[in-house]
Amino acid sequence: MVWAAIHGEEAVTLQAAHQLLRTVHADDACAVVVPVLNPDGVLAGTRQNARGVDLNRNFPGANWSPVASPTFWSTSMTRTSERRTLLSSPGDAPGSEPEVQALMALVQRVQPELVIDLHTPLECLIATSERARPVAQHLAEPTGIRIIDSVDGPTPGDSSTWMEAQGVTAVTYEFELVAFPLLWHRHGEALTRCIVERR
Ligand SMILES: [Zn+2]
Repeated sequence: MVWAAIHGEEAVTLQAAHQLLRTVHADDACAVVVPVLNPDGVLAGTRQNARGVDLNRNFPGANWSPVASPTFWSTSMTRTSERRTLLSSPGDAPGSEPEVQALMALVQRVQPELVIDLHTPLECLIATSERARPVAQHLAEPTGIRIIDSVDGPTPGDSSTWMEAQGVTAVTYEFELVAFPLLWHRHGEALTRCIVERR
């Protein structure tokens, strides 16, 4: 399963998902693609959903926290720790947001072996589990993109922690900050691998 735009200011991930759907014929695909998980955020250009919740802090994993989490101003071109000055709500309760509930229901229905969560602009693959690492290495072959096992700072209520607890391998795919044609030129092959190869 591949999904995009859980963060609304990362709309380029939505373009990538649509290009993927245009590139691969349905008969050749073995994946479910969700092109936009946070439609209100995309329309408003905000990381959060319409209720001000960072959806990637709302999943009901063991690490969910009721404390507002520092994120970035949506206009920050360079993301550094000192620019993590915008506080995002994690929701009133774990799994409180309709977008998160819809994705969880879809995961439980489809029972994917692997989920790829598209983001920008960190230019890396994030593999938080042992079993995610070889998947990330395979995905990185066409691009040479770096692989890391965590980001700078805590990510309570993130989707990967919840997915991994369900037995689903989770890889976060972070594009660099470039215009879409350049992005697809570099990452199109790896993204196509995500949905045409049966594991
Ligand atoms: Zn993101």
